[in-house]
Amino acid sequence: MPAVADILIPLALDTAYSYAVPHGLTLAAGDVVQVPLGPRETIGVVWGVEERASGGNLRPVTGRVEAPPLSEPLRKLVDWLARYTLAPKGSALAMALRLPDEAAQRETSRIGVRASGRPASRPTTARGKVLAVAADGAVRGKSALAKEAGVSLSVVDGLIDDGALEAVALVPEPVALPPDPDHPRVPLSEAQAEAARDLIAAPSPSPAETGGTILLEGVTGSGKTEVYFEAVAECVRDGRQALVLMPEIALTAQFLDRFAGRFGVRPATWHSGIGGKRRERIRAGVASGEVSVVVGARSALFLPFARLGLIVVDEEHESAYKQEDGVHYHARDMAVVRGRFERCPVVLASATPSIESRVNAQSGRYRHVSLPGRFGGRPLPDIKAIDMRLDKPEVGRFLSPPMVNAVKATLAAGEQALLFLNRRGYAPLTLCRACGHRYQCRNCSTWLVEHRFRRALVCHQCGYAERKPEACTECGAFDHLTPCGPGVERIAEEAAELFPDKRIVVLSSDFPGGAERLRQELETVAAGECDIVIGTQLVAKGHNFPHLTLVGVLDADIGLTTGDPRAAERTFQLLQQVTGRAGRGERPGRALVQTYQPDHPVIAALLSGDAERFYEEEISAREAAGLPPFGRLAALIVSGEEREKAEAHGQALARVADPPPGVMVLGPAEAPLALVRGRWRFRLLVKTERGIDVQSYLRDWLARGPKPRGNLKVAIDVDPQSF
Ligand code: ADP
Ligand code: ZN
Repeated sequence: MPAVADILIPLALDTAYSYAVPHGLTLAAGDVVQVPLGPRETIGVVWGVEERASGGNLRPVTGRVEAPPLSEPLRKLVDWLARYTLAPKGSALAMALRLPDEAAQRETSRIGVRASGRPASRPTTARGKVLAVAADGAVRGKSALAKEAGVSLSVVDGLIDDGALEAVALVPEPVALPPDPDHPRVPLSEAQAEAARDLIAAPSPSPAETGGTILLEGVTGSGKTEVYFEAVAECVRDGRQALVLMPEIALTAQFLDRFAGRFGVRPATWHSGIGGKRRERIRAGVASGEVSVVVGARSALFLPFARLGLIVVDEEHESAYKQEDGVHYHARDMAVVRGRFERCPVVLASATPSIESRVNAQSGRYRHVSLPGRFGGRPLPDIKAIDMRLDKPEVGRFLSPPMVNAVKATLAAGEQALLFLNRRGYAPLTLCRACGHRYQCRNCSTWLVEHRFRRALVCHQCGYAERKPEACTECGAFDHLTPCGPGVERIAEEAAELFPDKRIVVLSSDFPGGAERLRQELETVAAGECDIVIGTQLVAKGHNFPHLTLVGVLDADIGLTTGDPRAAERTFQLLQQVTGRAGRGERPGRALVQTYQPDHPVIAALLSGDAERFYEEEISAREAAGLPPFGRLAALIVSGEEREKAEAHGQALARVADPPPGVMVLGPAEAPLALVRGRWRFRLLVKTERGIDVQSYLRDWLARGPKPRGNLKVAIDVDPQSF
């Protein structure tokens, strides 16, 4: 009987398609193949093979593709991801299957050149320069050689034709050298050693349960990284592979150097900035087992590890782990699932765990390993509030007198201060004082943010930008456009006036010059070569600035009033993280927090240094409201170019929602950001009791409802992180 293969294609398709397996081709589940799809050829992955009678009238598989096969645990992860997020199975597969693009393919055949030892027949000055560089006999890429010699590429080509240079294949360097688990290391403290033993002793979970997940909790600076490095070392000693997930922003040179300090070499890294050829080589190295440790952003979760033995999710509470477009998945939750399929332990590390992980640790689903206090007995920063109702800044200023004094004292002591404001740009709103016009994005329901450095008004949703006009575009009045409220650039201006002779840097994702320049700048801050750092959440996390002793939070209330059920948790985590930057070096640190509501439970918990109190209150509040993890949430976002049609579609869906007991459907309501990139958004919110299979409910509901037509779209977000 002919064999039939079910091939899953990495496109937005729900099911695998059947193809005939031609004679002489033996396929197994997980193999990557090429198949015809309509008029073209595409790649896919064998999801199953069977002997079946109907094979005759199916189109045949074209052939096998040279790419690492998808292991069974990875295929299970794809199935699970699709089922959980209700994304098409092919879209879930696309996360795990990124084949080389054409540019990368071309690079495969890259050759280099070196001196052949024969003289050039026609010596010229330019040729002489090239040969002088090539005289060392090293192999270089053609353009690298031309650049180094300061001549054009044609000179190099001429020398090749002439025989004075010879072409050789460039041998690629290994993507990563093997980490040495027994590299000499700093001794661990007793508490760290005990925590490390706990992690290493973690049992491997069986696929049916979540045992094997550990919450590693300890305040910032408690030494968690060193502890999970031990688990990574043990995993490598065992000949298995380890994956360390980090929010992309925390993947700094500083961290990679720390890794190198512990393991002798830097790890292989994986993030959106890693390009074509290198991506493929890392994937291949991971699949062959040659790469033993990967440190990567959330997409690293879908790499084809051959022998995964450990997953660490650092800063597990970070909302950056949630992918908010395409397949809406949470990398922390998916890590726990992958750990189950791979039968390997998963360590979730955080100073401020998510409520979900805390509840799982309390209920015993996860094991809880804690580190007490900071490493070396360093004190946590002393945190005090500045009540802005009493200590008002001058008009048009944003630093209160006590804040200014504290910065002064810090600088006088030769120490560093960080002023934290989670707002990019100069001012979040521009208003015409003559006519009242406010500058709004033309594609989104957002105010345009002034960026003075770029001399532009910019939308932070869609990137739309316009030049800041001289006169109001509505009424024509000159000199009436007024920036309202502060962004980090405006704080920098104020600080520069107050401290004219001090070195001030502004660090936000707008930092000019790209990621590499930003990385360098972070290093100069760490080295103490700057006095005042003014930054957004970019500086709040993961960095170690040993000279920093004062953290000033300029607006602690920003995140508290969003109406989002996670607002309290987010704000608490962010403020804990940023105040925790102070005093990580020799000298003790302190934090001052400007707030209009010092009695707000989040602020009060922060000031008391009593995280336990925050967790207790927040967990009982969630339980009482039936919010996650005590109940479940899912959102349907209906969007379209015409407001009325999007709303009408939402209403039509609501009419057939027909929620069973334990399920509540709210809306459609205008999403908090109603207009984004020219699309109007309406939200239906599904709130269920904990035991309900929300995916089945959503699937049935959407099958009953009208299908979106034209430019309408319905996106599904199970476990939405923010509203
Ligand atoms: P966390 O990850 O909990 O924020 P880190 O692992 O970054 O904490 O440790 C905080 C600081 O203490 C770092 O500067 C680190 O180098 C130092 N440190 C941690 N453990 C040790 C140790 N055993 N010996 C010496 N220094 C340590
Ligand atoms: Zn916009």
